[in-house]
Amino acid sequence: MLTPPPPPPDASARRAAPAVPVYASARLPPFDAAFYQKVREGIEKRAEIVVPPREGRAFAVRAGEIFRIICRDGPQVGDLNLWNAHNLCEHFFSGKTRAFHGTHVTAGHRLWSTLPHLRPLATITHDTLGWYGFDADGAGVHDVIGTRCDPYTNRLLRGTDYHHCCHSNLTRALASARGLTFAEAEPFVHDVLNVFMCTGFSRDRHHYIMKASPVRPGDYLEFFAEIDLLGALSACPGGDCAAGHSDDTARCFPLVIEIYRTRPEHLAGWQSPAPNPYRPPEA
Ligand SMILES: [Zn+2]
Repeated sequence: MLTPPPPPPDASARRAAPAVPVYASARLPPFDAAFYQKVREGIEKRAEIVVPPREGRAFAVRAGEIFRIICRDGPQVGDLNLWNAHNLCEHFFSGKTRAFHGTHVTAGHRLWSTLPHLRPLATITHDTLGWYGFDADGAGVHDVIGTRCDPYTNRLLRGTDYHHCCHSNLTRALASARGLTFAEAEPFVHDVLNVFMCTGFSRDRHHYIMKASPVRPGDYLEFFAEIDLLGALSACPGGDCAAGHSDDTARCFPLVIEIYRTRPEHLAGWQSPAPNPYRPPEA
């Protein structure tokens, strides 16, 4: 570590500047709890996809449907990617979602899409781990901090090759779903929602930390699809991510994706959010 320069005489005054929110998130389109609660009633399961341990699977959800990511057999973290089913260039924007809603997401939060679209791809409608909040380590569940475990970082830090990192699993799932080669699919894989993962920043150095996920069989995270979606989920090789990832050490379990039809009468008057209307003057 390099030694930082000595603080200036007015360091205390500079540090005492008031902290204000970066974004006026209160001005986001409101979460209509009554609407989403109504939509959750009378849903009918139409598909179930099992994601084997250390693998990935893709799934398609139509606008207005509900999907759940379910822990069935044991504590397991999942890495989620979402794309506009009709345009892979519009996908989940982890950074802006974090800026709007915080480091961890739960029921009532939306998963936003990349620029220039910037609209909700999905809304979280139920979270059985919503009770967790932030623990004594400052850690919470379902983060939008991390990126996804990947073989390039693994090579960089450990000097070994591992082919079932979430990045690779998501790439293979997308390639399989769309008839692409691995190389064609890889650029569309993006920073994830870390479903069920328990993470935070260390108190002293603000480093990214993880701890054993509190998820247990029966827990699930539920989403309402705001537009037609293609999703991919990887059952992370880190298992509950208590100690590590990017190898075959951890005990891993499958994850289950369930997709539900909703009742048309509950969607009356609802329509998919439009892409952001801003247009640059050069366009
Ligand atoms: Zn992973």
